Amino acid sequence: MKIALVSGAAGFIGSHLCDFLLAKHYRVIGLDNFVTGLEKNIAHLKSNPNFEFHRADITDKNQIPAFTEIDEIYNLASPASPVDFLRIPIFILQTSAFGQMNLLQVAEKTKARILFASTSEVYGDPLVHPQTEDYLGNVNPVGIRGCYDEAKRFGEALTMAHHREKKINTAIVRIFNTYGPRMRPEDGRVIPNFFMQALNKESLALYGGGTQTRSLCYVSDLVEGLWLLMQSDLHDPVNIGNPTEMTIKELADVVNQITGNTKPHVVKPLPPDDPKQRCPNISLAREKLKWSPKTNLAEGLTQTLNFFKKEFSG
Ligand code: NAD
Ligand code: UDP
Repeated sequence: MKIALVSGAAGFIGSHLCDFLLAKHYRVIGLDNFVTGLEKNIAHLKSNPNFEFHRADITDKNQIPAFTEIDEIYNLASPASPVDFLRIPIFILQTSAFGQMNLLQVAEKTKARILFASTSEVYGDPLVHPQTEDYLGNVNPVGIRGCYDEAKRFGEALTMAHHREKKINTAIVRIFNTYGPRMRPEDGRVIPNFFMQALNKESLALYGGGTQTRSLCYVSDLVEGLWLLMQSDLHDPVNIGNPTEMTIKELADVVNQITGNTKPHVVKPLPPDDPKQRCPNISLAREKLKWSPKTNLAEGLTQTLNFFKKEFSG
């Protein structure tokens, strides 16, 4: 039985990854400090004998148990919402720096392969479109998103340095906008905001008018991509995301349509440095991992709506 360590296990993506690995008969050890994660995301796993959980902040070495046997480490720990970029920017920088450093040391000790969850934000407000892995990005290091973008860029550099200097078996995934059940209603990202506004029969708030684009990947597709990358021998970054690109206004229209909300959208100010366009080129994942997303937007949004309806009524 393989043993996987998942940091950020109580978060949106992390909790789905734990489910996926347990279904594949892994033993899973979860770590989380609940800065943005929720106990209820992993409550259903507490009685599973193959799941073990430790409340731990990965930036503090003393909080990470002394593991001896681990095969795979998935480091998903990091706040990821622009709301958090304003609230806890220093902690975000610390998490991808000291947190990733601490987990790289666990990988060195246990000889595990370690995957660092990076982001499409390393491309900043991209001037190359769609984004390929060799695009170096257009990031404002001192803007309000800089704490996240530069933290992830540093995390990538730290990971490659450990691979080169210490021969640690590393992987880097650049995750593009992902959505699905277990996003926090108050998370601040576009999918929870739009669903909670629609279920409240309120106008959906389009920042800057909604002409900017994003490409949304359903969480089960993303998680499969993370696992396939872990099984590969790739060390350079790989984009994982759904290349179906749409404007935020088009997304708002679909959300209103499937929720039956009839309130007209309102326009709110665009936050500084908000990327104008984003779409992954996933040729590398298609070729090397034989991965491509399977869930279309209608299916994914329906699953997500069912989740937010329960959140709304509960
Ligand atoms: P999330 O906020 O739901 O999950 C992050 C989890 O990490 C939370 O449970 C949080 O409590 C935990 N955490 C944060 N800092 C920690 C620390 N120092 N020690 C221990 N636990 C810590 O966010 P998510 O959307 O599930 O994102 C998961 C990962 O994927 C993040 O690394 C994020 O940067 C990356 N990512 C996500 C997306 C997306 O669209 N969801 C896009 C790009 C990258
Ligand atoms: N956005 C919006 N209304 C909201 C929340 C977000 O119009 O209530 C926009 C936001 O400005 C951005 C896009 O939706 O252009 C995606 O935002 P999100 O925070 O989900 O992710 P990111 O900006 O990190 O891609």
